[in-house]
Amino acid sequence: MVEEGRLKCAFGIRLSDQEQMEWDLLCNELGPYHGFEDREDNVSFDGDFSVHKCYNLQSTEAVEVNFNKFLWKNSVPFKVSFMLWVIFHDSLPTKDMLQHRGIEVQDGLCVLCKQYEETADHIFLHCAYSHHIWSYFLKAFNISWVGARDMLSFFESWKFNALSGRNKKIWWKIIYVVPWHIWLERNSRTFAGRPKEEEELLMLIKQSIVLWFCDTNVFHGISISQILFQWDSIVHT
Ligand SMILES: [Zn+2]
Repeated sequence: MVEEGRLKCAFGIRLSDQEQMEWDLLCNELGPYHGFEDREDNVSFDGDFSVHKCYNLQSTEAVEVNFNKFLWKNSVPFKVSFMLWVIFHDSLPTKDMLQHRGIEVQDGLCVLCKQYEETADHIFLHCAYSHHIWSYFLKAFNISWVGARDMLSFFESWKFNALSGRNKKIWWKIIYVVPWHIWLERNSRTFAGRPKEEEELLMLIKQSIVLWFCDTNVFHGISISQILFQWDSIVHT
């Protein structure tokens, strides 16, 4: 539920100070939920309720959603998995989702390109800004861009490559670290932060990749400046 514009969760256990702090940080990073009302959720039916309609809904074959395999990886920060979990549940507070919930937004445009409606699929996959970021990494790995309709199919398509060893490990970090930084940049711009050019965001992404591998030997013998400024040489050695 939301209290004073912030996400609030009633946990079944008492959180330690550390856990509470991590939860607060996560809520801050996901961004404020402006416009949400501080009241309990309730259940409503789309249109007039009828037993027939209800029966049809119940009997519709459930679509198998198998995104759990992409979440809660030890090597991926919990906050990133949580963001993806929210995306896969169509609950990321993008402008289209806020409007769908009846919340007024000033304009519905993507803050990254200012051209198209802001939806989760647009900001992460179809926006020119994000496309530039993805293309940088795909080109380095010599892999062609495969247009995906949504994030789940994008994750599914990520396994189609012939990479091995260190490159494979890096590849499977990229699909997590890129959306995370795109979302941080989107939030920063939404709340009047300084816009970062694509090249600047790429640097931050590469820094995060180094951090996520810091307790492994993936970048053993490679300097930080080589990772930041000679990315191609990392991938092709
Ligand atoms: Zn855009």
